[in-house]
Amino acid sequence: MKNIIIFGAPGSGKGTYSDEIVAKYNMGHISTGDVLRSEIKNGTELGKIAKGYIDNGQLIPDELMIDILAKTYDALPKGQGVIFDGFPRTIAQAEALKTMLAERGDDMGMMIELVVDEEVLMARLLNRAKEQGRADDNEETIKKRFDVYRNQTAPLAEWFEKEGIRNTFTWTGAKETMLSNIFAAIDKNA
Ligand code: ATP
Ligand code: MG
Repeated sequence: MKNIIIFGAPGSGKGTYSDEIVAKYNMGHISTGDVLRSEIKNGTELGKIAKGYIDNGQLIPDELMIDILAKTYDALPKGQGVIFDGFPRTIAQAEALKTMLAERGDDMGMMIELVVDEEVLMARLLNRAKEQGRADDNEETIKKRFDVYRNQTAPLAEWFEKEGIRNTFTWTGAKETMLSNIFAAIDKNA
């Protein structure tokens, strides 16, 4: 199985679709947000550093993030393919990912971009706040995360376009439609 990068704004469904893809194709899954939240929960040094950025809606510095990503990738079984959820979020991270994979004889595979209107995203995240109580799911921090996404992460879509691996899926109201379109693209790419 080839690697997959899942890309989109906060609340676009990266984690949700990753879980579906992992269940169907039996791949590895790296969610950098989940890795960081687990470090915070365990009270590690890394968790302490990460908390300040996350609670403020900002990105963790690239160098730190790239290091965490490589370690997490190397801990997964080889040859099954990995879905990258929440990474890369900057051009520097994307370049580092490409290099890190090439050093191991692997490549980025395909990129799946999720496009969802901001009003829909806000409603989803406020709803998730009630269900999961994530510290960064409050209106003020969500707005900061949208700004960070627009300024630092969204421009990366063009970078993937140039790499020739961008596949865009736009939310029109039905998860089943999104899923069948995504699965069809993965099957075509396999
Ligand atoms: P969702 O999980 O709903 O898609 P999200 O993309 O905002 O929303 P996570 O991916 O869980 O959520 O990330 C939460 C926070 O963790 C980010 O706002 C950021 O502070 C930090 N983070 C996660 N991945 C990265 C990364 N690749 N680079 C820098 N910071 C990151
Ligand atoms: Mg997530």
